[in-house]
Amino acid sequence: MKFISLNEWGVFPYNLDKPLFIAGPCSAETPEQLEATYGGIKAEGNLVAMLRAGVWKPRTRPNSFEGVGAESLPWLVEMRQKFGMPITIEVANPAHVRIALEHKVDVLWLGARSTVNPFTVQEIADELEGIDIPVMVKNPINPDLELWVGAIERLYNAGIRRIAAIHRGFSTHSKSKYRNEPMWQIPLELKSRYPDLPLICDPSHIGGTRELIAPVCQKAMDLNYEGLMIETHCNPDEAWSDAKQQITPQRLGEVLNGLQIRGSSSDNPEFIDQLAVLREKIDRIDKNLIEDLSMRMKLVTEIGDYKKANNVAVFQVERWIEVFQSRPEWAEKLGLSKDFTAQIYKLIHDESIRVQTTRQ
Ligand code: PEP
Ligand code: MN
Repeated sequence: MKFISLNEWGVFPYNLDKPLFIAGPCSAETPEQLEATYGGIKAEGNLVAMLRAGVWKPRTRPNSFEGVGAESLPWLVEMRQKFGMPITIEVANPAHVRIALEHKVDVLWLGARSTVNPFTVQEIADELEGIDIPVMVKNPINPDLELWVGAIERLYNAGIRRIAAIHRGFSTHSKSKYRNEPMWQIPLELKSRYPDLPLICDPSHIGGTRELIAPVCQKAMDLNYEGLMIETHCNPDEAWSDAKQQITPQRLGEVLNGLQIRGSSSDNPEFIDQLAVLREKIDRIDKNLIEDLSMRMKLVTEIGDYKKANNVAVFQVERWIEVFQSRPEWAEKLGLSKDFTAQIYKLIHDESIRVQTTRQ
């Protein structure tokens, strides 16, 4: 898959020399709320390049506010005119797509509860077949990279090339300070598979509280994300949905202006030289690691043969208990995390068993 960069989407009011910032309320509530929120965002200067709002809201339980629906689209269209900025909304079925297209919404997004369901994604993709509109795809609720990739592929197969991925965190059972665990390794794995796929962070749904917005934004910038989507409301405490995580336009300005935005590379020759030196050292260490691992596996094979000759089972539990205990302890003394070392030894153990059993 080959994707079009955000700057070539042709929908933003100015060239994105910094990351793409998207802001707006969780839900469109009233024309007055939209105008106060977007007006506040605009008053912070040319920081934000696209306005968001939820028109249809996926709610966990019935009888909570499910969005104003199609009635709010004309309000959004008016806001686009008034503030000269593109608008983006969530679509969760083909009817939503049709209504959004009728109102010439600039960019669509698929929510986490849609990405999780290949039937829904396919229905939306079928509706979009042959229509050239940018679509952002939120990660599925559960930490499953393949589902996320699958949704992107379904849209791609429908001919959509202006696609971005939105990282909004993952639902887990473990108690956490986050509303949705970021699990940064998942979006980063997506990015390493598709380096030209723009990656946008949604700190609001990751954090779930106002205090976590700024640190999560900074983390995303440190990881070189191409954008941020931040829920912003003129009166967050009174918001009809996600009140706890929305921030005021003024706070949004502070958060965005306070971000340290790092370049993805530097032209400074001193930096380039020093980076090359460090990378060479890493390459040497990696070669040694691989040589040591290879030697270790050769010994494992030898032991396997020896066990077989003496009619002894491959797996000896006491030995592995000792290995699993000692290695993380050795590692900790050298400043490595015990957890990390335990994970490495779990992989080494699995491979050792595999190698030995193929020789039985
Ligand atoms: C939203 O952006 O308001 C939303 C419903 O998000 P998610 O699909 O990530 O839960
Ligand atoms: Mn929300």
